[in-house]
Amino acid sequence: MKVFKFGGASVKNAVAVKNVVEILKRYPNQQIMVVVSAMGKTTNALEELTRLYHERNKGWKEVLENIRRFHSEIIDELFQDTSPVNQELDTWFDTLEQLLEKRPSKNYDYEYGRIVTFGELFSTCIVNHYLNENHISSRWFDARKVIKTNASYREGKVDWKLTESLVKTEIFPYFQNETNGKIGLTQGFISSTVHNRTTTLGREGSDYTAALFAYFLDAEEVIIWKDVPGLLNADPKYFPEARKLDSISYRDAIELAYYGASIIHPKTIKPLQNKKIPLRIKSFIAPGDEGSVICGNIQSETRIPCYLFKNKSVIDFYFA
Ligand code: ASP
Ligand code: MG
Repeated sequence: MKVFKFGGASVKNAVAVKNVVEILKRYPNQQIMVVVSAMGKTTNALEELTRLYHERNKGWKEVLENIRRFHSEIIDELFQDTSPVNQELDTWFDTLEQLLEKRPSKNYDYEYGRIVTFGELFSTCIVNHYLNENHISSRWFDARKVIKTNASYREGKVDWKLTESLVKTEIFPYFQNETNGKIGLTQGFISSTVHNRTTTLGREGSDYTAALFAYFLDAEEVIIWKDVPGLLNADPKYFPEARKLDSISYRDAIELAYYGASIIHPKTIKPLQNKKIPLRIKSFIAPGDEGSVICGNIQSETRIPCYLFKNKSVIDFYFA
């Protein structure tokens, strides 16, 4: 089986959601666990909403309205008025609104976890309905039921043992003994405590979610679909001649992520390295292209320098 991760940019509007379906159609008869982030910049908007709500500033209402409109416009483009997605999405928004009508607790991080995670619930609701509408049968899983963390609500520390046993009992049977293709769909970034209080894995944590599922399900590979052709050796904003790296080692990828290359979440690589699961970064615009792969054995003999801007100075790395 494979694990695919679609980030915010890959589901930022109706055209992007349609493209997710096109990508999945390229992998017929395969078992794929699909991890999806919140649409576009929804998480930023939800952070703003949390701040206003916590300050008891009624401005949250307008922010919520904007988030609701953004999602409604996407579903209007994708579905008929009669589609059940309308009602299901309304239910999610109503649940969030009811929560916001109550007084906030003093614990900001707790409120943050409860509110900001709705972005992924909205996006996976929409994507799941759209897959089914296109006759790609998928099952929606609530990541909070399996990815368990401690009570650091804004960046929970994963409880590996508990998460492993829950993934094995809740998700694994769905894929087991299946010879035809099957799609499981779930949210990146979101998790919960043993007491089912919602937590997050930290901003941009969906990559990490994908790595966790790959690790616990023994996936053969992870593909992160992005709006870039792969891993580049420098940020093309500063270096127009940036080149794509075809393959790099786990070690080098960890180093790059650690020094702030924003392409992958730093916690993502380690679990994959431990089980030797390759991580591919591919373009959702050109899905036929190879992309870049992060794996254990690198054939290439050429050493390509990588450049990163950090505190206004350039750090360069030489990668085998
Ligand atoms: N939606 C979350 C964020 O924007 C998680 C992610 O995209 O990886 O930080
Ligand atoms: Mg994101």
